[in-house]
Amino acid sequence: MSVTASIDGNTLAAVIDGRAFAAGLRARVAAAVPVFAAATGRAPGLAVVLVGDDPASHVYVRNKGLATKEAGMASFEHRLPADVPEAELLALVATLNADDAVDGILVQMPCPKPISEARVIAAVDPAKDVDGFHPVNAGRLASGLPGLVPCTPSGCLMLLQDRLGDLSGLEALVIGRSNIVGKPMAALLVQASCTVTVAHSRTRELAAHVARADIVVAAVGVPELVRGSWLKRGATVIDVGMNRIAGADGKTRLVGDVNFAEAMAVVGAVTPVPGGVGPMTIACLLRNTLLAAHARAGLDAPAL
Ligand code: NAD
Repeated sequence: MSVTASIDGNTLAAVIDGRAFAAGLRARVAAAVPVFAAATGRAPGLAVVLVGDDPASHVYVRNKGLATKEAGMASFEHRLPADVPEAELLALVATLNADDAVDGILVQMPCPKPISEARVIAAVDPAKDVDGFHPVNAGRLASGLPGLVPCTPSGCLMLLQDRLGDLSGLEALVIGRSNIVGKPMAALLVQASCTVTVAHSRTRELAAHVARADIVVAAVGVPELVRGSWLKRGATVIDVGMNRIAGADGKTRLVGDVNFAEAMAVVGAVTPVPGGVGPMTIACLLRNTLLAAHARAGLDAPAL
């Protein structure tokens, strides 16, 4: 799903429309929900746990709850105070693990200190780990075994395959090595038979790596780090970055990790920020919840 633009007769890159693709995926998930309900007597359920008062996390949790209900699934929201003892949070996770109406559990990160995010992630039943962060699911992904895959890289892969079809043999560069985006993205691209390079904060000559890449996935958190002049002509660029910067007018705006205007003149296709990867993350969360529900019920996964 993309739109090709031009200025003064010069063809610019296609803009990959993540919003439209995500809407389609959400509709396919919603269409599969009644089929699951007819087979099992219940809708798939997603439990979201929010600890503390981080305003951005509140918005994310509210949006996830709304999207879950819009897809016809059951949404369970649990809000705990910032000073909740870790043991209490782990006890809630254990209750959700044991609750048959709950197919997916998501603990919104970051958790306030001194809660150990690693312990919280490890406490979630891997069969309900719709974030795909549990070491069992990370290991499954690294081993090429079926499991729940983190939502953001999953969405990036879908956009890439929608744009390019078969990715095998392509040179892919992932910038960033976080457990949430960079590492699982690299594993997915290896599995899709790309030749994968992972760049990170200690990488030397980042521009030289970018210049070789047919696919660039930027997940860094540095506004407009990747310049148009670094990019290979015709490359496909997936910009995961979401950085809020102050504009000349004093108002803030959201930009990615890639200089979008410069990239447009060089590459074949690029995701905008906002409207690219962002909407895919929630759509893939709903998809993961549906897949987890089917796996737990012993049903074949629907084609999405
Ligand atoms: P992170 O901070 O955990 O990881 C950033 C990575 O970038 C690190 O691995 C680091 O080594 C690397 N890095 C830092 N500076 C670098 C440099 N100069 N050159 C090369 N690599 C460098 O971040 P994250 O959680 O992976 O998120 C990355 C970005 O993606 C952030 O802007 C975040 O807001 C965004 N994000 C968006 C979504 C979405 O739904 N669109 C989801 C997750 C993250």
